[in-house]
Amino acid sequence: MTPDSVDALYDEARHETPFSNGTEADGWFYANCETCWHDREQRSEETAGPGCPLIMVAYLGRTPIQWMEGPRSVEGYISIPNQYRCIEYRHEDDGPADPQPIPDPPGQLTLVPREDYQGHRMLTTAPQETAVTK
Ligand code: SF4
Repeated sequence: MTPDSVDALYDEARHETPFSNGTEADGWFYANCETCWHDREQRSEETAGPGCPLIMVAYLGRTPIQWMEGPRSVEGYISIPNQYRCIEYRHEDDGPADPQPIPDPPGQLTLVPREDYQGHRMLTTAPQETAVTK
């Protein structure tokens, strides 16, 4: 995923607007994208780069498929920071966004190729009790 891949990301995105209003959008972007590696150039005063292409897809009115629906309370409520879980999120202190190959342990034989079993690791947490909307 690079800033110039907006067209491809837009084509594969869900045909629905991700947020009901600007408050939801700003709250989610603030909670998720403010610390993300993919949008760091947009936040930096020195680089002022293009930023994350998924945010552009959202601004264009579609929901990126990389945004998984977040948890809801038993009453069906969502919290703005957890409305979606972005599978591309990487903390800006984590280093490059591209996956780094994990070396095989020294002295070990490789019985099964690892590539097919490596990918995004999805973590879920309990819903937060902040900024609830429906
Ligand atoms: S990858 Fe996801 S969390 Fe990171 S800036 Fe883009 S939309 Fe936000």
